[in-house]
Amino acid sequence: MKNTNEMEIRFDSRSENEGFARVTVAAFMTQLNPTVEEVADVKTAVSEAVTNAIIHGYDQEVKKIHIRCRIRENIFFVEVSDTGRGIENIEEAMRPMFTTRPEQERSGMGFAFMEAFMDQVEVESEPGKGTTVKMQKAIGKGREIWTTQSL
Ligand code: ATP
Ligand code: MG
Repeated sequence: MKNTNEMEIRFDSRSENEGFARVTVAAFMTQLNPTVEEVADVKTAVSEAVTNAIIHGYDQEVKKIHIRCRIRENIFFVEVSDTGRGIENIEEAMRPMFTTRPEQERSGMGFAFMEAFMDQVEVESEPGKGTTVKMQKAIGKGREIWTTQSL
């Protein structure tokens, strides 16, 4: 399709790779000429999804995390997938402050942050098969556009 651009990465579910994933997605996104705030929003959302895959999906076992990014016009799409344990009840999992790991001082705010910082968040998951978090954000929405006439 015209005006689309895609990239995919696959990496080990080690916490050391969380920063790598966040920065790589941010680097791909720069072609949309995002604001500092937009980059920070996407980085936070990706970081939450990757951390969830590492901690909840794989329970610290080292397996693969897959990230797929797509740009279409000014919309940035990012998907974070694991093939881990999956989520029984997605609606409950996405509720702010819901966590299955209170003992690890998790606050249950990961999905709430993803929803706050992205325009759309969808979760597909099957117990025993894995989880995919699909997010999107329009970049440059609030930016003022100056034409030569308005100067
Ligand atoms: P926080 O993100 O604030 O540290 P948290 O990770 O528990 O805490 P969320 O990120 O909102 O909170 O996730 C809520 C719950 O959804 C998790 O406690 C976990 O049970 C489930 N969950 C989230 N992502 C996955 C995943 N990739 N695989 C399996 N379960 C998941
Ligand atoms: Mg989380």
